[in-house]
Amino acid sequence: MRTVVAKFGGTSLADAGQFMKLRRIVEEDPGRRIIVVSAPGKRFEGDEKVTDLLLQCYGQAAAGESFEGALAKVDGRFRDILDGLGLDFPLSEEMAKLREHLAAQPSRDYVVSRGEYLNARILAAWLGFTFVDPEWCVCFDADGRLDAALSRRMMGAALRPLENAVIAGFYGAKAEGGICTLPRGGSDVTGSLAASAIGADLYENWTDVSGLLAADPRIVPEPKTVRYVSYRELRTLSYMGASVLHTDAVLPVSDLDIPINIRNTDRPRDGGTTIVRKLPNGETKYPIIGVAGRAGMSVIQVEKLMASDGSGFTAVMLDILKRRQLPFEQCLTGIDTVTLVIRSDLLDACKEELFDEIRRELSPDYLGLTEHLSMIAVIGEKGTETCDANVRVLQALMQAGMPINTINQGAGKLNLLIGVPEEKYEEAVRAIYATIDEAL
Ligand code: ASP
Repeated sequence: MRTVVAKFGGTSLADAGQFMKLRRIVEEDPGRRIIVVSAPGKRFEGDEKVTDLLLQCYGQAAAGESFEGALAKVDGRFRDILDGLGLDFPLSEEMAKLREHLAAQPSRDYVVSRGEYLNARILAAWLGFTFVDPEWCVCFDADGRLDAALSRRMMGAALRPLENAVIAGFYGAKAEGGICTLPRGGSDVTGSLAASAIGADLYENWTDVSGLLAADPRIVPEPKTVRYVSYRELRTLSYMGASVLHTDAVLPVSDLDIPINIRNTDRPRDGGTTIVRKLPNGETKYPIIGVAGRAGMSVIQVEKLMASDGSGFTAVMLDILKRRQLPFEQCLTGIDTVTLVIRSDLLDACKEELFDEIRRELSPDYLGLTEHLSMIAVIGEKGTETCDANVRVLQALMQAGMPINTINQGAGKLNLLIGVPEEKYEEAVRAIYATIDEAL
């Protein structure tokens, strides 16, 4: 029998009704043995996530203010779930422990982790699975950084002997004690570590959408869902702003070639999106899997006659950025020119000094800056291998009368990156999507 690690996000566990759906999903496939959970999320637009309420409790307690209002809301959320399920659970004792901790010298990470801790314990009781506390197997170093290799070993030892288990996402602990949390959305990472720790056949990530959309639905009306995406393509999609899966969740499973399947708890019949290195036999992959983008970019252009003569012009330019610890998004070099794409919010803080330094060290013939750009990524390992797709995309932009600032495609052929003025971004995305929609 295959082994599946199934991670359920906050909206999939927001109330008793969602717990019931989850149980049906788990019972439908006996392979779903290891369940990873987030804290209860939003039940409706404008609702509060339990993690945010706990952060509020901590903030108020640390400031010496009353945290009772926010704590009562946390208590209410779990009480509603327990009442809806008709489950007996020592919630009052757990709340008393949390109140006591908050009233003493509270630790932020401990307080914030209690949403996952309680949700996992309740779900374990409801499913009749063993509860596994990540405090004992998700390991952080003394500086509070996740130790993925050690966590894998410890999680493997904790989970492998169990027939089935529910493990809380989002937190772990240091060897010397003390709860540490992962970044927000980190339960995805716990799920991925669990899948790699037990060598699962599949990592399911259950959420509130039926997979990855080929474009942002706020820009493109009803974009299609993509069935298969490679790990590399997913990385680009996430980098460019698609927020379905935490970026750090890819590495632990991609290392072992464990597919990730993004599924919708409200529509369990939808196949969702599967993220793989290699497609299953007989499946064809879309050449271009989507278009995504990021606003708030600036472009610096530096030119100097004979800069390409091996004098290390580009190296000096990059060294200036390195010394300033200023990351860049793209670096395009041409004959006697270097073009750098940098996030405007990072550049704005040091623009004048940076330009002075470039003038001093490189004496350029021309130093230019273009601001308020958006970078669009047309993503597809297969599609961008030939120039077909590129021609279609650029033709569509030309027909839309789109001013193009930069075009970038490396030999890796994963994306075509196009810089356009910010105010033209949505129009450009729609024009590009129209060229790939049919093939999806
Ligand atoms: N509950 C945490 C958050 O809201 C972690 C997670 O859901 O993965 O960010």
